[in-house]
Formats: sequence, C-alpha cells, structure tokens
Amino acid sequence: MTESTETSDVSQASAQASDGAPKVVQGLKDMADLVSLCKRRGFVFPSSEVYGGINACWDYGPLGIELKRNVKERWWRAMTDREDIEGIDAAILMHPRVWEASGHVAGFVDPLVDCKKCKSRFRADKIDAAALAAKKCPSCGGELTEPRQFNLMFKTFMGPVEEDAAIIYMRPETAQGIYVNFLNVQQSSRQKIPFGIAQIGKAFRNEITPGNFIFRTREFEQMEMQYFVKPGTDMEWFEKWKQMRIQWHLDNGIRKEKLRFHEHGPGELAHYARAAFDIEYEFPFGWQELEGIHNRTDFDLGRHQQYSGKKLEYFDEEAKERYVPYIVETSAGCDRTLLVALVDAYRFDGDRVWLALHPALAPYKVAVYPLMKKPELREYSEKVYASLKKHFRVTTDDAGSIGKRYRRQDEIGTPFGVTIDYDTLSNHTVTIRHRDSMVQERVSAESLVRYIEEKFESWGK
Ligand code: ATP
Repeated sequence: MTESTETSDVSQASAQASDGAPKVVQGLKDMADLVSLCKRRGFVFPSSEVYGGINACWDYGPLGIELKRNVKERWWRAMTDREDIEGIDAAILMHPRVWEASGHVAGFVDPLVDCKKCKSRFRADKIDAAALAAKKCPSCGGELTEPRQFNLMFKTFMGPVEEDAAIIYMRPETAQGIYVNFLNVQQSSRQKIPFGIAQIGKAFRNEITPGNFIFRTREFEQMEMQYFVKPGTDMEWFEKWKQMRIQWHLDNGIRKEKLRFHEHGPGELAHYARAAFDIEYEFPFGWQELEGIHNRTDFDLGRHQQYSGKKLEYFDEEAKERYVPYIVETSAGCDRTLLVALVDAYRFDGDRVWLALHPALAPYKVAVYPLMKKPELREYSEKVYASLKKHFRVTTDDAGSIGKRYRRQDEIGTPFGVTIDYDTLSNHTVTIRHRDSMVQERVSAESLVRYIEEKFESWGK
C-alpha cells in the first residue's frame, strides 16, 4: 500500500511511495474534474438532463442531498442552538409591495452587455474595465453593446386568468421574509433585543452570467440570519458576527489560507449598508464571495414601516424606550458552501482521488466490507454494519477487490473503512482504514463505535 502526505494545497513535500517515487498531493485545479466526479458518484446532476439540460440548473443526487442536509444541519444548529436565535420558514411568494419596499423592483439590476458577434452576454461589472471601455468582447473580441439595466427578479402571475392576475416575484433573497415577520417572531417568542431570526430557503435570480457549476445558478438556497440590535451597538455586533461566521467555515474543515475577508469599499457598499464584508474562498477560478456579512442599519424595517403603514418598532420594557432596531445580516449560499466543501476537500496524488471532507459533512461516516464474498464473513460484517448504523450513517460494499472498494469510498469522502477478514472470526478484531492517510489499524470489533467517535471528536466539532 502506498502512502502520501499532504500539505495545504499543491504539496511539494511528500512521502515516498512503495516504489520509491514521490507522491505529490494536489488540490482541485480544474472544475471539470469535480463536475465529472459529482455526476459519476451521484452528488450533482445537470437538471432535466434527458432533455439536454437547462442552463445553470442542477439536481442533487443521493450523495449530494446528504452532503447538503449536513451543511444545512450544521448551519441551523450553529444558529438555533443559541438562546437568542429563532428559526422561521417564510413563503417564497410574497406580497408584491415587499419588493418595492426592499428596493428590488427599482434597484435589483445588473448592467448587461451583449456581444454583437458571438451573442455572449456579460455582466458589465464583472468584465475587465479596459475591455468594457473598448467595447471588446472578452471571448471573441467582437463589439459589445452599451450596458443595459436588467432586473434579476423572476416574475410570475398569481391567479388563474393571466390578464387580470397580479404580477408577483419569486423571492431573490430569503431576508425579506424575516423582516416582515420581525414582530410576529419577537412577540410570539418573547425575545428581547438583541436577538436573531434564521432561515434556510430557496431564492431565485435571473442571473445574466450563471456558471462555474453550482457557484452561480438561477435557483439556489440561502442560509440567512438577521440579528436585530439596538442602534449604537450595531458595529460591535457586526464585528462579532464576522468572526463567528468565518469560524463556522473553519469548523467545517475549510483550509484557513483559502478563506479571507473582503471589505466593501465606498463604491461597492449597498445604499442601505453601513459596513459590509464578504467571506471569500479561493476557487480554481479565483477568489469569490461565499458569504456576506452586512450592517443594514434600520433601512429594511424602516422601509417596511413606510410601505406597509404598520409600525415595526421594538419596545424596550426596562429602558421604557421605543425604537426601530438595526440589523446585522449574515447571508450564506447553501449550494456555494457545499461547493466550497467539495472543492476544498478534493485531493489527487497522481493515482488516488479522495475527498478529505470533514466527517460531519461526509455523506457516509463509515463503510463496512467483508474481505471476500464468503457467507461467514458477510454474516459478521452485517452484524458490524448493524451495530455501527445505530450511531453513524454507514454503507457497505462487497463488489470487487478490497483496494477498489477503498477507492470508491475515498472518492466520496467516507472517513473510515472497516474490513472483516478471517482473523476477525477467531479474535474479533477488524481492520480500520483511514481515508486521508490510508493508515490501517487493527481494533477490536467491540470498541469500534468508541474508536470512531473519539477520532471524530479529535477532528473538531
Ligand atoms: P453577486 O454580486 O456575486 O451576484 P451578491 O453580492 O448579490 O452576489 P448576496 O445577495 O449577498 O450576493 O447573496 C448572499 C449569498 O447568497 C452569496 O454570498 C452567495 O453565497 C449566495 N448567492 C447569491 N447569488 C447566488 C447564485 N446566483 N447562485 C448561488 N448562490 C448565490
């Protein structure tokens, strides 16, 4: 068995393989490798693939949905295990006035330019400034049109007769469902400021230039938390949430050197925001936003008061004070967090591909294998499988050589493999193999659950 040692990204140092050749462990270089792994192993499929697919829409397969549920569960627990945060699940379709108040009808626009020659479309703010000034298409060099403003909200009709029906929008963010429920939640839960409301849900944006796999899609999920604070304490809370959010990504096992903050300068800062930082990740296609942390002041509640005519104030019983709270927002993409987990975990040593996923995110925690398809090994292995299943998500595989079976699990990020062989039958010990180091240890079948739990604990929360 060969061994490889890994450093953070493209490693120079490495252990000797058994044939003496050095093994160099690399991270993901080409998104196509990940897209193909995801399709082959059932993480992500192109949507409506039998019809040729639909641009920038993707379906999660059996392993993808497990990974996604793990991402959401970790986020949800990190938020709602706190005494000061409540959860909510608001409707996707909202009163059309919501989007006037929020500024989306007038302002949720991106500048769009078209290439007259190759017909490609670009977001003017995402292409090179020199190319834009020269009106030169970045892909074919053809002439670009003047930028046009393009609203990103999907419109639809509510009501059976299209002509009379009201135009409504598919929500482009989950946050508004939280703002309009601020008083409902506060009064029903009897929370006192400061407190937060968390929500996970779908959002829709008619993006001009979707792409890079599930990085930018037209239908996606957000994990947003809006924290309501007393004006004057907002910057303090903003700083706290910035730190807590980057720590959450680190706790998911994401490499520190691949994460950074990007502060919105005066030109980038939204009109409502007093301060905004993005948490960025270094993808193979460059540093890109993963999550936004924004100090939104009293803009949102203030606007909903104005447009609805309803007071959205908080009454502080102790201070006998009434005010419109300020909001500190943390807004992460669920699909993007999942993409970061996959990109960051991808490892290749010239021979073996594995996903070094944090065990809390891995779709399966353990795989159990009978060394051969012999009834007595199978029977033992089924018992081990059943006992582990009470504690972890477990899978089993008895097809092909043991080496091939290990590789199959490495590729989907299963942290441990447990092999039952003839020695197991006589001395009740099994081989446990570690995904990342490929180290194999012999442990008693009885102590397996404790052994795995301890390893997971040492991995970090
Ligand atoms: P951009 O400027 O890149 O379009 P944004 O600043 O508009 O993004 P936000 O509105 O702050 O993004 O959205 C919060 C989070 O939601 C983002 O950090 C990202 O993780 C996720 N997100 C936004 N748009 C998309 C999308 N089209 N596909 C997938 N995730 C998205």
